Amino acid sequence: MLVGIQHLETRRAVKRLQREKQLVMEPLPLELPADTVQRIASELRCHPTDERVALRLDEEDKLRHFKEHFHIPKMQDLPAIDLSLVNKDENAIYFSGNSLGLQPKLVKTYLEEELDKWAKMGVYGHEVGKRPWITGDETILGLMNDIVGANEKEIALMNGLTVNLHLLLLSFFKPTPERYKILLEAKAFPSDHYVIESQLQLHGLNVEKSMRIIKPREGEETLRTEDILEVIEKEGDSIAVILFGGLHFYTGQLFNIPAITRAGQAKGCFVGFDLAHAVGNVELHLHDWGVDFACWCSYKYLNSGAGGLAGAFVHEKHAYRIKPALVGWFGHELSSRFKMDNKLQLSPGVSGFRISNPPILLVCSLQASLEIFKQATMKALRRKSILLTGYLEYLIKHYYNKDTADTKKPFVNIITPSCIEERGCQLTLTFSVPMKYVFQELEKRGVVCDKREPNGIRVAPVPLYNSFHDVYKFINLLTSTLDSAETK
Ligand SMILES: *Cc1c(COP(=O)(O)O)cnc(C)c1O
Repeated sequence: MLVGIQHLETRRAVKRLQREKQLVMEPLPLELPADTVQRIASELRCHPTDERVALRLDEEDKLRHFKEHFHIPKMQDLPAIDLSLVNKDENAIYFSGNSLGLQPKLVKTYLEEELDKWAKMGVYGHEVGKRPWITGDETILGLMNDIVGANEKEIALMNGLTVNLHLLLLSFFKPTPERYKILLEAKAFPSDHYVIESQLQLHGLNVEKSMRIIKPREGEETLRTEDILEVIEKEGDSIAVILFGGLHFYTGQLFNIPAITRAGQAKGCFVGFDLAHAVGNVELHLHDWGVDFACWCSYKYLNSGAGGLAGAFVHEKHAYRIKPALVGWFGHELSSRFKMDNKLQLSPGVSGFRISNPPILLVCSLQASLEIFKQATMKALRRKSILLTGYLEYLIKHYYNKDTADTKKPFVNIITPSCIEERGCQLTLTFSVPMKYVFQELEKRGVVCDKREPNGIRVAPVPLYNSFHDVYKFINLLTSTLDSAETK
């Protein structure tokens, strides 16, 4: 009897754990970043803003050696640098990994291997070597699956992100007179916006009526999950596809992917995500969350270089049900592809969505980066990232909170959610002084970040190649920038 009860208890606990794994994005760390910073400062008997805190955080960072795998730009090589303000031989403060990740040192080696093979044996390269060109993309699927939390059969590496968005919508968006809307977040990335507009037009639908955009509440910058879920609950019956960003490119808000997926599917919608800013940034469990489809690019946090090979995911539950609308020879099963008999044997799932032969040079650069991710693991990267971005937030708030007593002092506002489950690496900052001035002065001082209309500067310390000391130096440069704005 007792054994029976214990058994039941354990089963319940296991079930609860399984449920939690599915339902929540990720568990909270044991200690919040601000507490870690303060604990270390008190251990060192110094102020939390002291340089020694940054150095200690770096010392304790088990991932710190991974930056050796990357080329880090030097101050002197940056086009906008002012050499009177910086030491030219120092590394730049590169906080643009959310826009274009840095180059892994092995990229060149891998490219040379394939260029060599091409030079030495030409067409034979299709079938031999470390990466036979015909299956080049497939040879690195095993490096991508953990990053998005999927089986290898659920992902394909092909095309660019926007192309993949189109291909997936052609299969998942099948409007009917009752169910014809696509739901998306406000100020979605322009490409995603145009994709949706043009897909609606392709079906002869009225864009204004069919493109359902959720906006933040008046006076708020980011969306509340409860508001998203309410729209789905109220209008779900008329929504064919929910296509959300995983993490908003401008605000840096990480959406609750499992909650949106569950709510949408309960209403009979297909739910897909553009993971451009989420992949390689936060932990993803696309399979467990039951997401219907997703796609992403690989040149942001995944460091594959501009125009890198993009990814696509179709959940295995759709492997035999959802077919590609447009087909090419690489969607044909490999075993009979080269019989060339024009009798299509479609590969099940997303691999059937591949149209052309894979671009091997893009495979090389992606492989070099994904191997580093494999060693580092997303779990450890995310743990560091929470602390790294938390440390940045701590320092910004310490120095640049709006001071109501001193109205002349410049202040910085962080529009990215402060809750760590609702953001990744990036913080989006707005300023009490003109953003263009701040950006230009940061650039002169060797900070690589970006400005985005209407008034934000995005900074993204990434855990693979940024250090806590980078964050510390950034704050000093920001101080000198804002001081110069004051005295101007
Ligand atoms: C970066 C980004 C893109 C870029 O699309 P490409 O097809 O790779 O040029 C599209 N959507 C989002 C959300 C992005 O962040």
